[in-house]
Amino acid sequence: MYPEYKLSDSPTQKVGTKLFESQVSKGFLPHQHKVRLYSLDNTYSYEELSSWYDKLQKNYSLSSLPELVCELKIDGLAISLNYHNSKFAIGATRGDGFVGENITKNLETIKAIPDSFSEEISDIEVRGEIFMPKSAFQKLNDEQASKGAKLFANPRNAASGSLRQLDPEITRKRELSMFAYYGRIDSGEISIKSHSEMLSFLKKLGFNINPNFRICKNIDEAIEYCKYWDKRRNDLDYATDGVVIKINDFALQSEMGYTARAPRWATAFKFPPEEVSTILKDIEINVGRSGAVTPVAVLEPVYISGSTVQRATLHNFDEIKRLGINIGDRVLVKKAAEIIPKIICVTEHSDSKSSPFVPPLTCPSCGTKLVPVEGEVNLYCPNYLACPSQIKARLEYWVSKDCMDIDGLGDNIIAQLIEKGLAATPADLYKLTTDDFMKLDLIAEKSADNLFTEIQASKHPTLSKFINSLGIRHVGKETSDVLARKFKSLNALKNATLEQIRDIDGIGDKIALSILDFFSNSFNNELLNNLKQYGVEPQEIKENQNSEIFKGLTFVITGTLSKTRDYFENIIKEYGGKVSSSVSKKTSFVLAGENPGSKLDKAIALSVKVIDENEFNEMANIK
Ligand SMILES: [Zn+2]
Repeated sequence: MYPEYKLSDSPTQKVGTKLFESQVSKGFLPHQHKVRLYSLDNTYSYEELSSWYDKLQKNYSLSSLPELVCELKIDGLAISLNYHNSKFAIGATRGDGFVGENITKNLETIKAIPDSFSEEISDIEVRGEIFMPKSAFQKLNDEQASKGAKLFANPRNAASGSLRQLDPEITRKRELSMFAYYGRIDSGEISIKSHSEMLSFLKKLGFNINPNFRICKNIDEAIEYCKYWDKRRNDLDYATDGVVIKINDFALQSEMGYTARAPRWATAFKFPPEEVSTILKDIEINVGRSGAVTPVAVLEPVYISGSTVQRATLHNFDEIKRLGINIGDRVLVKKAAEIIPKIICVTEHSDSKSSPFVPPLTCPSCGTKLVPVEGEVNLYCPNYLACPSQIKARLEYWVSKDCMDIDGLGDNIIAQLIEKGLAATPADLYKLTTDDFMKLDLIAEKSADNLFTEIQASKHPTLSKFINSLGIRHVGKETSDVLARKFKSLNALKNATLEQIRDIDGIGDKIALSILDFFSNSFNNELLNNLKQYGVEPQEIKENQNSEIFKGLTFVITGTLSKTRDYFENIIKEYGGKVSSSVSKKTSFVLAGENPGSKLDKAIALSVKVIDENEFNEMANIK
């Protein structure tokens, strides 16, 4: 067995990949990619595209125009397939580019992935994009609808959900396909000199290659290609959001190399977001978990950039005035990838002389009179304790992935728990029994039991996740992380003074005041007390373990790591260590990532200890 395969199959590997656990979900083993899967830099205009090409030509003093390969960028999921002795051995998701999820069993069910080939190759890695054809997506959603099951938002989500099923038989039933676009052969047994040659080779091996790729002599031809497909992308049976443009010649590719995050020899041209016209049917009022009241546009359903859009944000009531829109108007809607759709403008006012939209005076959920908050455009519902919308939004937030991460507690279940008076605050979740869940509609005993177990298992989150779960205004995921590392326990954070909080890099008065405000509120204190009473306690970061563990040590950081260099520098400094930019005999450790370069050579020459990110995390006790 090859060591890299063993590595990812072995349960012991889990110990070394703590850092990545957040990216790797329950149920799949992590898989360490042998060669990082980089992302691509994006370009958004033809000018940018030209200047990318000109810069390469200039920086590498190229005497002739380098040949390019243009391929449609498929809006799916990147995967890596490893073949050993011409047989499919292991397949994984991209993950964070370093570590993905081992989903071999599921990939084996996909027809477009050959399980072996006649060509003799000891080791080849093939990368591609898994996608669900639009026609299969429509069929799947029709089936979901007839079963009363949840609909998938777009083909990409459907592909992702289908691929990450714990039962491969479900994956088999979903019509997934793949286009391969990359091959890497470890030994020198086969000589392939360019990307287009590699594509032909992959096709020969039996992989699906997107037939629409084109070799272009120069950037003008590549731009023609982008323009051509921008107009025709909707005719394809798969979603595409742009064009990938690569330097064809492998020798030239390796000369150009990589930046910290992407190859220099490739770029992704993103098609401009589609703008589609539709009718504004209604304006709904949403009450968020902090009580902020915001308008939401309800639209005549319309298909934009890969999914059906029925709602768009209107930000606040001033925006409605600014746009001059009214119910019944024809509006132009735009959606960039992964971003909430937005109304750009009114194209045609409705004939009916309906009176202009008037912002509500009272909360649509609880009827309390809305109040303005100084310095903010939104109106607020001040009924923090009893407003049903706020209660629901807070519970939904509490169980979400970046917070307490409680699987299975969906919006529908939360709504029922509130309606039946079983839960009103996050603390209430922890006193729920299996019997309580059985009182809800459509819950079988097994799922009730699972929900109970999931909730009980979530009682000791990391301090950072717990702080994030509290939903303190202006305190998101990253600030929670900073606060956890600084204060190490919930009590220390609770008792922190304004100065102590304000002194932290990147935290200003606004955040500091909001934290103090949160902990001085009696409702919040009651919540914290109740949580504690039910045994919900975040893990403390032990004082003696962390305070000065790096005292007297000097680190040099080199190569590409999974987080920014600042992130690691901050940790080292916080724990009493120093960071230097060059390696000398005085250097204690060189923290080396991918493509470490000359600093690593120097470290080896001077016998300075070299550690990788996992070893660093172990030392710093980062979970
Ligand atoms: Zn309310």
